[in-house]
Amino acid sequence: MIDKKIMEMKNEIIQAVRENVMIKSVLADQIGDMPFGEGIQRSLEHALNLAKELGFRTKNLDNMVGYAEYGEGDEMFAVLGHLDVVPEGDGWTYPPYGAEIHNGKIYGRGTLDDKGPMIGALFSLSAIKELNLPLKRRVRIIFGTNEESGSKGVKYYVERDEIPVAGFTPDAEYPIINAEKGILTCVLEKNFEKQNGKIKLDYILGGTAPNVVPDYAEAAIYGESINIKELMEACKEIEMVENLQIKLEKGDKDNYINIKVFGLSAHGSTPELGKNAISGLIHYLSLLELDGEVGKYMTFLHKNIGYETDGKGLCINLYDNVSGKLTFNLGTINGNANKIKMEINIRYPVTKKYNDLMAKLEEKMSPMNIKIEDIRHKAPLYVNPDEELIKKLQKVYKEKTSQDPTLLAIGGGTYAKAMKNIVAFGPVFPGEEDVIHQPDEHISIENLIKNVQIMAAAIYELAK
Ligand SMILES: [Zn+2]
Repeated sequence: MIDKKIMEMKNEIIQAVRENVMIKSVLADQIGDMPFGEGIQRSLEHALNLAKELGFRTKNLDNMVGYAEYGEGDEMFAVLGHLDVVPEGDGWTYPPYGAEIHNGKIYGRGTLDDKGPMIGALFSLSAIKELNLPLKRRVRIIFGTNEESGSKGVKYYVERDEIPVAGFTPDAEYPIINAEKGILTCVLEKNFEKQNGKIKLDYILGGTAPNVVPDYAEAAIYGESINIKELMEACKEIEMVENLQIKLEKGDKDNYINIKVFGLSAHGSTPELGKNAISGLIHYLSLLELDGEVGKYMTFLHKNIGYETDGKGLCINLYDNVSGKLTFNLGTINGNANKIKMEINIRYPVTKKYNDLMAKLEEKMSPMNIKIEDIRHKAPLYVNPDEELIKKLQKVYKEKTSQDPTLLAIGGGTYAKAMKNIVAFGPVFPGEEDVIHQPDEHISIENLIKNVQIMAAAIYELAK
């Protein structure tokens, strides 16, 4: 019955999604009372106006976040998603804000992440309303406006409005993600006294972000009678065993050698899929006669971090059955003979505690006078498979797709972490091409409608 109603709304749904995709809602500077700029503002207004037209109550919290609400009851069930998008980037076949339809697919930034699903969710709720299906819980569709750059909108909501008893976010993948590892990002900083070795470090630099495996790192060393041939020997071993490429070049100044290491990039949540160029550079430097503190530090880093992606050498190799191993990524390095800073990104299993992890890390770092700074932490998310939310989402997914409603554990963080009692549910189906944040982002009309139907069934099941 709901599915049929949604089929009748098909053209309306497509039209509404296209309208919103045509609004370029990329984060911009605040203008007046528009905290994230004009594009995001217009996108939020479009969604809230549409909600009003569909007959819902709406609220705009100071242009930071807004929601549509329907029904009565003490408890509230929520669908959480976002209307901001990442910049379009290059390489598009069709205009990124054209919302053109080709071969049954709507193309444009935000079609899948996350405007298509969120405008779609309004129609899921609209179908329930049109059919007068009885609900015990109120339902809110919450529109975040800052998911791609810090989730400030939802934080604003959490501080001043009602927290749902349960909900889902259609901003990741199906079936259901009920476990997301804790994420710890921090800076390791080490200061040095003067160098007194035969070979000295001039600078070291590598990586682009803590959550990306660096595919490139470089350093320059210098010293009297430095010999490039001798230095070549040390490269071979690393290249053979670790599958990295090392290039040595004579520097512009006398007795300078530039070292360049090439690896393979990967996402920080799956560091085992990459080849860490910084680890290779540290390994190389640890083999040279860099005396003094810098040399000792390279040896310490190679011995305790090395190429490991599970934190074993640092004694933080945590594991649980729900979400597997801790992952460790050495993302960036930047420094010279006075100071070296590194950014690391750790994703720890959902049943483990932040304080235990931090205590172990400090135990390892403090004897070396390494400071742990600029700590950013996102606690793990774990919803027990026995909870009503999980059981009912599984039931709906199975009924609607005839597929196994497997529960997923991931190392990445979804929007679900922004608010309590929420798990990620859709919109990408298993095996589907992942075009999120890519050029030619699109959603097929078939999958858009399928998503609206699944969300409607899930909302009804959990609010009735
Ligand atoms: Zn998203």
